[in-house]
Amino acid sequence: MKPAVFDYHSPVELEEALDLLDEFGYDAKIMSGGQSLIPMMNMRLARPQVLIDINNIAELDYIRVTDTGIQIGGLTRHFQVEESKEIERVCPLLTEGMKLIGHSQIRSRGTIGGSVAHADPTAELPVMLTTLGATITLASSEGVRTLTTDEFFLTYLTTTIEMNEILVSIDIPISPARTGYAIDEFTLRKGDFAIVLAAASVTLSEDGTVEAATLCLGGVDGVPVLLNEVTDELVGKVPDPAYIAECCNQIADLVDPEPDIHATSEYRKDLCITYAKRVLERAAARAVLR
Ligand SMILES: Cc1cc2nc3c(=O)[nH]c(=O)nc-3n(C[C@H](O)[C@H](O)[C@H](O)COP(=O)(O)OP(=O)(O)OC[C@H]3O[C@@H](n4cnc5c(N)ncnc54)[C@H](O)[C@@H]3O)c2cc1C
Repeated sequence: MKPAVFDYHSPVELEEALDLLDEFGYDAKIMSGGQSLIPMMNMRLARPQVLIDINNIAELDYIRVTDTGIQIGGLTRHFQVEESKEIERVCPLLTEGMKLIGHSQIRSRGTIGGSVAHADPTAELPVMLTTLGATITLASSEGVRTLTTDEFFLTYLTTTIEMNEILVSIDIPISPARTGYAIDEFTLRKGDFAIVLAAASVTLSEDGTVEAATLCLGGVDGVPVLLNEVTDELVGKVPDPAYIAECCNQIADLVDPEPDIHATSEYRKDLCITYAKRVLERAAARAVLR
């Protein structure tokens, strides 16, 4: 199928793009990698009258790593994050998780801003950013605002982005020493969107007990789901597999995923427990090495 007719603009500066959004309002749509938007336009699920292609706005394409955090511009491609040695050094979760996004062709075009703005509940980036305590910065002609993932993701494919805003960057704090990460997912075929995915971070104290831990699931609700009930029980304890398993078994009572053509609610719950255990165990083992 082909998309409905639209007008096309290709600004080279952020300010120009924001002016276009002000001018065209709800008739306009931002296009970055086009990997989700263009298929939706081809299927006529999206019919913007005006397409604002931000691919030429070079100021949105960067990765900056400092002692305190990572900042990634909205137009940065998935593969750039995947291949960044600096990111691998300070935040290996991102490196591991980016490899799970679709196929290399998708990752060569898809962008950080597009993936986060699209807000698919089984996408890897929203789950990783929630695990990492990232913030998301949006710009409009009125100024900028920075949101936590909890404030940003509202429900399935829905965020707080206003029609005059562009996602310009994400910021990720650097975790303390002895922090390990892991992400894993269940897919029907390699490269598919996940049925369920889980990501975890575990920070160990010098005595080997858990100082802090985070566990986030995707594919169980409209937004990434943090399971503090599970990780709170790990704090102060030695994270051996038997204890992690004991803590994760309560997940069956904590999540209530919708059934769909791919999986029943019960099957998804089982996957949640299996993958939660797996990522927490791996994150704890990796924390020892860092
Ligand atoms: C075959 C296939 C498999 C895939 N598998 C996966 C997968 O396993 N995991 C996964 O996470 N994704 C997957 N994707 C989606 C892919 O990651 C997309 O790149 C991503 O969802 C959208 O990014 P994009 O840059 O292509 O955005 P676009 O398609 O250009 O835009 C998507 C939406 O975000 C809006 N938008 C884009 N950029 C901005 C911005 N800077 N500010 C505000 N709004 C913006 C657009 O208006 C649109 O509504 C897959 C896609 C395909 C085609």
